[in-house]
Amino acid sequence: MVTKSRAAVIPKPNAPLIIQEFEIPELTPGAALLKVANAGVCGTDVHLWHGKLAGVPYPLIPGHEVVGTIEAIGPRPVKDLDGNVLKPGDRVTFHDVYNTCYRCWNCLIAKAPTKCTNRTVYGITMDSQKHPHLIGGYSEYVYLSPGTHIIKIPEHVSFDGASAVGCAMPTAVHTVLRSPLTWGANVAVQGAGPVGLMIAVLAIINGAATVTMLDQAKNRLELAKKFGVTHTLNIAETSLEDRKQKLMDISGGHGPDIVYEATGNARAIPEGIELVREGGSYTICGQYTDSGTIEINPHLMNRKHLDIKTVWGSETLHVYKGVKTIADNYHRFPFDDLVTHKFSLDDAQKALDAQESHVSLKAVIQPNA
Ligand SMILES: [Zn+2]
Ligand SMILES: [Zn+2]
Repeated sequence: MVTKSRAAVIPKPNAPLIIQEFEIPELTPGAALLKVANAGVCGTDVHLWHGKLAGVPYPLIPGHEVVGTIEAIGPRPVKDLDGNVLKPGDRVTFHDVYNTCYRCWNCLIAKAPTKCTNRTVYGITMDSQKHPHLIGGYSEYVYLSPGTHIIKIPEHVSFDGASAVGCAMPTAVHTVLRSPLTWGANVAVQGAGPVGLMIAVLAIINGAATVTMLDQAKNRLELAKKFGVTHTLNIAETSLEDRKQKLMDISGGHGPDIVYEATGNARAIPEGIELVREGGSYTICGQYTDSGTIEINPHLMNRKHLDIKTVWGSETLHVYKGVKTIADNYHRFPFDDLVTHKFSLDDAQKALDAQESHVSLKAVIQPNA
């Protein structure tokens, strides 16, 4: 039985990551110990490092996109979301959001559980100073507390493929479920990062007639083509008028039925409103962190008779459906290709730097490699 785990720790905002060794606490009834295979490096981790998220306890072990192998189970059986009893050696992931309460006003009355006031999140808002300490994926082991929502990774899906789930697939699932996507739709996606790519995947699976990806990074647009989008538009090489016209041509002269925003850039929003067809739907999910204020003409939104929706966070349902979607469509899309960079635990700082400079599409840390 392992007794210690090395972990990368953010001591305080903007301070370089350090490696620390922790005692692995005894497993209580309902708890399990996870041996980490991949911890996804997410844009959120960079924001955490810069101290840009409120309510985060430092020092912090980051890492909320985790896949790995069950190392040990506590004195009571632990089940996955399908009700299967887990055993050591099982390959799993888990929903990073812990203890959504279903008792607070936001959960019960507003029916907005992603705005639950009692949630805590592995690798973001859990306190590594307190028991059970090993609460983030930048670590050899993660302590899965009783009640953690665990999902098995099917044998035919690699850890890299499952890492495509990260936050990107659940966000994409949530976003698409908030939109009126049906077969035959003409879809445009702003932003070919992991979230935009996963939205494109869901649009293709749902039978969209056309899926057009907009981005300025050539390598990302190339990858989008590998995922099967029907058209790409490079925003660095075209004007807004060009893009509008092209999308009109693609969709029989009307413009896209649905535009999804997944850019993280405020300037995408007025453009999305321009691009979507009259009576169409615009769904915004890429403004998770504050990218500033932008001028918008509300008359255009009103005149075009638009449905505009936004999305915050994800529920366990979205993570579960994300894993199933990747498993069911694993041979149809090159999910493994999303992971472009791999780092050891000692190089966790380099992984954050790669994420920040957009060198990587998806970087992972492999603490046990
Ligand atoms: Zn709640
Ligand atoms: Zn994330």
